[in-house]
Amino acid sequence: MTVLRDTRIAAAALITLTALFAMFAAPATAQDKQPEPESEPKWSIAIHGGAGTIRREDTTPEQVAQYEAALQKALDEGAAILAEGGTSMDAIKAAIVLMEDEPLFNAGRGAVFTWEGENELDASIMDGRDRSAGAVAGVKSIKNPILLADEVRTDSPHVFLSGAGAEQFANEKGLETAPPEWFATEARRQSLERMKADALSALDVDLKFGTVGAVALDQDGNLAAGTSTGGMTGKRWGRIGDAPVIGAGTYADNRSCALSATGWGEYFIRVGVAHEICARLRMEVSGWTVYAPADEEIDLEAYAVNRAQDIADSVMAEVKELGGDGGIILVTHTGDALFSFNTAGMYRGRATSEGVNEVAIFGGEESEEASETPDH
Ligand code: ASP
Repeated sequence: MTVLRDTRIAAAALITLTALFAMFAAPATAQDKQPEPESEPKWSIAIHGGAGTIRREDTTPEQVAQYEAALQKALDEGAAILAEGGTSMDAIKAAIVLMEDEPLFNAGRGAVFTWEGENELDASIMDGRDRSAGAVAGVKSIKNPILLADEVRTDSPHVFLSGAGAEQFANEKGLETAPPEWFATEARRQSLERMKADALSALDVDLKFGTVGAVALDQDGNLAAGTSTGGMTGKRWGRIGDAPVIGAGTYADNRSCALSATGWGEYFIRVGVAHEICARLRMEVSGWTVYAPADEEIDLEAYAVNRAQDIADSVMAEVKELGGDGGIILVTHTGDALFSFNTAGMYRGRATSEGVNEVAIFGGEESEEASETPDH
């Protein structure tokens, strides 16, 4: 096994060295121009707009169409940036800003209400290149909290700011603000009233749909992840969920994956979902050849996507075992865009340089081709 592993690692190293040499070699002249490179640089993006008890029988065709259109708009915005060679960071910010501005989702405009009848917003963002990260919690007047989280990442010595201090920092940096009416929607106010009238738990899963997130790999191989939310309807005592917690709701590491989560935040924090999945994947990356069947030729990329899905599913099973629910979106450093959720549905979408472009809401909706292990 060790010999086999060493041989395969040596072979992989040789391939990498050859690729590096090809990258840095002098540019080809017209005469000695080489045939087309084997593969174009890859890009990949996945987005979500929350997970929960979303069933087709409870949803009108008009609602489905509205959500699908909103998801498609955000997906296309991010995908266009990546296709043109833009950064994963720019792609996820553009997609999330659109979803924050869209009242259908529980982030920015359309956020759920706290027990006191306010909208308190949380967001986080992470760059897989250097693992720089920024997060904000409990802000009330910043139009796009994801941009504030990014400002914390790039322009402060800190990772996590909250409440009035975060707002002060935002004002000093000149971030766009909005009045309470911008964030407040009638549908979310009714959810709060229903919750209070029915004496439902503040953690009722049906009252927190719509957290948004995006993860992406750009053509330079850099990963980025971001998440933005209003949290849970009727939250009190300054409750903060997983969305702004780096390692719980958001994580990105160029060595493994970029991930954004949605669901019952308390459980995602306890499991450390985002970091747990990326870390398990990172630890497997160097050992992939070890786990592959000894007598088979290994398609490393196909292997990678299967392992990433297995790891994500098993961490989500842990969340479920503890009593939590929700879902994640994930893009691997090899360019695969995956979902894993243990709820009836998750508003989601993915697009890749290999031609995948789809949005979905209910369970099991992905196209056959896109769900199949890619054949490289
Ligand atoms: N995870 C969010 C929170 O716990 C809510 C959600 O994703 O639906 O605040």
